[in-house]
Amino acid sequence: MASDADCVFCRIVAGGIPAEVVRETERTLAFPDVSPQAPVHVLVIPKDHRADLDAVVADDPELAGELLRECAAVADHLGVREAGYRVVTNIGAQGGQGVFHCHLHVLAGRQMSDALG
Ligand code: 5GP
Repeated sequence: MASDADCVFCRIVAGGIPAEVVRETERTLAFPDVSPQAPVHVLVIPKDHRADLDAVVADDPELAGELLRECAAVADHLGVREAGYRVVTNIGAQGGQGVFHCHLHVLAGRQMSDALG
């Protein structure tokens, strides 16, 4: 499995940084964002180190599909799927990405605005 010792999310996958596991599959992990922007703010990541969703789509489209299915599963698990939720992924510096390990934000529990930033 690809892992980067300097990557904060690889360290979470390896157990070096604690995170409460919301959901886990063989290839994905979901855990709360340390700085939540909504009552529900969960990050869904591949366990393998991939820079961003673009890289996942290029290398492993099946994994990209699994990440999206996991976002819905997290929303289901936390009881917010019916009310609605937002899935966001930032790609690259200008896209607002700060952690360069692919992650999808699942946000819910408040009314989201139309503005996308
Ligand atoms: P980005 O801006 O890259 O899309 O989002 C990165 C997210 O990772 C941010 O929302 C930030 O709060 C979250 N984050 C950064 N470091 C940690 C950490 O050590 N633990 C957790 N749970 N979240 C983190």
